[in-house]
Order: sequence, then structure tokens, then C-alpha cells
Amino acid sequence: MASTARTVEFSRDATNVFFHILTRCNLKCRHCYINPLQHGAADLPLATIEAWLALFAERTSKANVIFLGGEPTLHPDLAGAIRAARRLGYASVTVDTNGYLFHDILNQVTPKEVDFFSFSLDGPEPAVNDPIRGKGSFAHCTAGIRAARRRGFRASLIYTVSSDNIEALGRMPPLLAELGVERFFIQVIGIRGKSAERAGNQERLQVSRADWLAAVAPVARAVAAQGITVTWPKVYLNIEEPFECAGRVAENFFIFPNGRVYRCPLCEDFPLHAFTIEENRLTPTGRINETDLFSLDIPEGCVMNRLVQPANIEYDADGKPLHRIACCLLKEEISPH
Ligand code: SF4
Ligand code: SF4
Repeated sequence: MASTARTVEFSRDATNVFFHILTRCNLKCRHCYINPLQHGAADLPLATIEAWLALFAERTSKANVIFLGGEPTLHPDLAGAIRAARRLGYASVTVDTNGYLFHDILNQVTPKEVDFFSFSLDGPEPAVNDPIRGKGSFAHCTAGIRAARRRGFRASLIYTVSSDNIEALGRMPPLLAELGVERFFIQVIGIRGKSAERAGNQERLQVSRADWLAAVAPVARAVAAQGITVTWPKVYLNIEEPFECAGRVAENFFIFPNGRVYRCPLCEDFPLHAFTIEENRLTPTGRINETDLFSLDIPEGCVMNRLVQPANIEYDADGKPLHRIACCLLKEEISPH
């Protein structure tokens, strides 16, 4: 029987490293947040990956790394990067993938070396997923999950909710159970990268507060009842709930191949990064940067949400917000145990 949802507090004693080791990809998803002009286009050499991993390995008592891209399995040295993270003492290693699993990666590493392969799928069937992620991507992704499970790897699945696929979310539970997925991450579309271009063309991608709240909790409960842990962003805070910016209190680092290091995903379309890595040293950026935004207190909650995706805020007749927007990194979770 599933327990009730709980808010996952920001961890003060763990460092989370979201390491984009390249930005190339074989797909062209409609909501891709990668922005090569801001993030670079190089594949990082293995020696650089190792040096950059070392910069974050000992910042807190526990460091976790998530390798991403682009598609990280397109990098010929992903297996070497995974082993470097293990050597450096990272507590967990996750690979986010679109499921094409290039370079025979499942046979290059072991389930002891990789905690989770995390697959991105945006629909319960090809008719919903493939218009968003590309023709044939549903078949490739589900085949990749099955292959990973056969080899003993743990699999999680990320579903990005937008107006393109919110109505199909309720059809995911049986597919997740059939695939043997252990964790289900429901994500919400961010207005950045390609989505920012589409929003600029007046396409409505964000889902309303009412639709989000009505859709997510019942699906999460149904999935958890099948023994799968479900995590999703809280997004909306009641006015009396406390607001906290992860940029002030947590150790999250989003690293890109051009050496930019952000603390906040909503800043990634702009040269607002808090650090750059220069000559393998983590250097604070000297001008106005995202850190200056984290300390601003506004009635709407998250400052960056107010700046880049304000369509999800509702106001009363006096111009006061009806709710606040939580930090995009604040999660709700239902665990079956
Ligand atoms: S698989 Fe990921 S990196 Fe590749 S296009 Fe899709 S969202 Fe972007
Ligand atoms: S999403 Fe908002 S609240 Fe979270 S780190 Fe960024 S600026 Fe802070």
C-alpha cells in the first residue's frame, strides 16, 4: 500500500553534480533545454571529465553524479567517466539517457558501477511520445529499458509533462510496471531552450495549475501502489507554506562542456552562471550572476520563474499572487515502503 506524498527537504550535506559531458544528441526533442550557444558544443575529453569530477567529489560528506548531455552514451568514454566517478568516491552514479544506448554501454559497465540508468519517455505509446521526441524513439527507449533490466541494471523513467502530453499521463502506470521501472520522475516543462523558442511563437506549452494538480497526484498514487517510487516537482506553494531557494541552501551544480557551472536550472539560457571552470579550477564569476538573484525575496516565490515563465502565476484583483511558485528543485515524493 502506498504511503502519502511528502516534500523532500533540500539536502544540506550532499552535493549533486549534473554533468553534461557533451551537448550532441541523435534526437531533436521538441522541449530540449540544451542551448549550444550558451552551453558549448564540445565533447569533453576523458581527462577533463576526471579533473572536473575531482573538483566536486569532496565538497560535502556525500557526492552524487548524474551524467547527461545531449545523449551521454554518444560519448565514447562514458564508461571511463563512470569508473572515474567511482574511483573518486562518488556515492551514486546515474546516467540519463534517451534509451538508444550507444557504444554498447550496457556491456561496458556493470550494475555495481551504475546505480540507475534513467530513461526519458514522454508518452505511454508511440502516438504520444514520438511527435515530441522523434519517430521510432518510443520503440528504442522501451527496448533500451528492457535490455538494461535483462542485464541487471536498475531503471528509472522521466516523463516531462506539457500541454502536448498531460492527458496521457494517466496511462503510464501499467507500462511502468511491465517495464520493471523502479523510480518514476514526473517533470514539468520548463520554458527554456527549444521550449522558450516555441513559447516565443505564442505556443502554449505550460499546463495550468488546475490541470497539473488534478493530473499528477492520482497518477503518482497509482504508480506507487505498484511498488514504484514517484517523484515530482512541487511547483505551487500555498501562500502560508515556506519558500526556500535551493541556490541559497543546497549544493547543486549543473556543469556544461564550455565550463559554465550553474546552481539554478532556470538560469541556463543566460550567461548568469555562478562559476566557470578555468584551467581545471572552479572560479566564481566576477560580475552580476545568478547568486545575486537567489537572495531576492518577492511575493511570487521563485525570482527566475517570475522572470522567465510567469504564465504559471495567478493574481487576485488587487494584484497579489494567489500562490507562490516553489523552487524548481523542490520535490514531492511517494514511496511505496
Ligand atoms: S534526448 Fe535529451 S538531449 Fe537529446 S534532444 Fe531529447 S531532450 Fe535534448
Ligand atoms: S528555481 Fe528559483 S528558487 Fe530554485 S534555485 Fe532557481 S532562482 Fe532559486
